[in-house]
Amino acid sequence: MALIVHKYGGTSMGSTDRIRNVAKRVAKWARAGHQLVVVPSAMSGETNRLLGLAKELAPSKQDEAYGRELDMLAATGEQASSALLAIALQAEGMESVSYAGWQVPIRTNSAYTKARIESIDDQRVRADLNAGKVVIVTGFQGIDDQGHITTLGRGGSDTSAVAVAAAMKADECLIYTDVDGVYTTDPRVVPEARRLKTVSFEEMLEMASMGSKVLQIRSVEFAGKYKVPLRVLSSFTPWDIDIVEEAKSGTLITFEEDEKMEQAIVSGIAFNRDEAKISVMGVPDKPGIAYQILGAVADANIEVDVIIQNLSKDGKTDFSFTVNRGDYAKTVDLLKDKVLPTLGAAEVVGDTKICKVSIVGIGMRSHVGVASRMFRVLSEEGINIQMISTSEIKTSVVIDEKYMELAVRALHKAFDLDQPVG
Ligand code: ADP
Ligand code: ASP
Ligand code: MG
Repeated sequence: MALIVHKYGGTSMGSTDRIRNVAKRVAKWARAGHQLVVVPSAMSGETNRLLGLAKELAPSKQDEAYGRELDMLAATGEQASSALLAIALQAEGMESVSYAGWQVPIRTNSAYTKARIESIDDQRVRADLNAGKVVIVTGFQGIDDQGHITTLGRGGSDTSAVAVAAAMKADECLIYTDVDGVYTTDPRVVPEARRLKTVSFEEMLEMASMGSKVLQIRSVEFAGKYKVPLRVLSSFTPWDIDIVEEAKSGTLITFEEDEKMEQAIVSGIAFNRDEAKISVMGVPDKPGIAYQILGAVADANIEVDVIIQNLSKDGKTDFSFTVNRGDYAKTVDLLKDKVLPTLGAAEVVGDTKICKVSIVGIGMRSHVGVASRMFRVLSEEGINIQMISTSEIKTSVVIDEKYMELAVRALHKAFDLDQPVG
């Protein structure tokens, strides 16, 4: 008997028929003798619908009080889908109970709309499992130490599932979604994308952080930290497929490098349209400038991604960085109000129509010239590179958003990702 965590995404939970299918699949696993904890997302479209209602009422609100209410609101999506799944399981003759994050409890910090999980108390869930029940735990949410409901950022149910699996020392965490695994790039953008049978944890981490939304980055961080066996697979196979076959399907996230990794220099291409570029122009080039700008941004809980500082001319320089598009207006206001006056910089300019395209691969460690090949491919397509950032196993470029698909397709082909391996 194993303890297994299943996570079902929004599309997989998208209608009562789909929820019934999920219940049948879960019941199959439970009847095979396993203990099951299931973490569902809200039904597809529901989180967007709820957040859209809030925006209708307060289009430009961004303060903490508003963040608190957004979390109260958005958390209801997962509460509804979890109860519906428990009801569907009961209708299948399985004993089942659902818990909202606060009932478990899943404790988080108080960063509304992007809270981090701090601890999970597994006693209640374990008691129900031992009593033979399937336990449903809402994805995406928790509770802070003041008793406020929090949510974990878009796509956060992945993180809930992996964190629950880590806390309970589950034998495996299966992330069921609307594609049958992790691909070389988003198969909706490049139809030639190939499914990877395995992907190393480090590559998955880079791909997720560079924008592949198939797994939320924090879920991959948890999996790495607690060595949670993690697999991404399809919820759209017939629910009654052979369980042994199902357990081997999809993409396994591995923690050891296998031989295959030596051949693939680039394993995948990620892209992110959710960023915006901000430049502070005419900054006096003296020590402490980066800290003055980015310190203020960090204090406002805004994450910064790619950063560049240009060479200075006449003692002045330009300083550019990217932030999440949702944080763009807030960051520009903050810089104009709080930073520009003390910094003596000329102006803040921004561009929201950018995207970041990244090539990721463990093989890049041992191969030189991979980045320059990427730059050549982009130049051959006439695509201008605005910013570059590299790590040991990835190279990212910021380009004009309108060239995103062209760049991803050209790179996918140039690095032979459409070719069968081995
Ligand atoms: P869920 O609702 O199940 O959490 P998501 O929409 O969050 O599903 O994530 C699955 C989607 O991620 C896929 O439908 C696919 O379009 C997208 N995606 C992006 N990059 C990749 C990739 N490299 N491999 C597979 N899917 C990807
Ligand atoms: N329902 C949340 C969202 O849409 C969380 C998730 O689906 O993972 O972002
Ligand atoms: Mg998701």
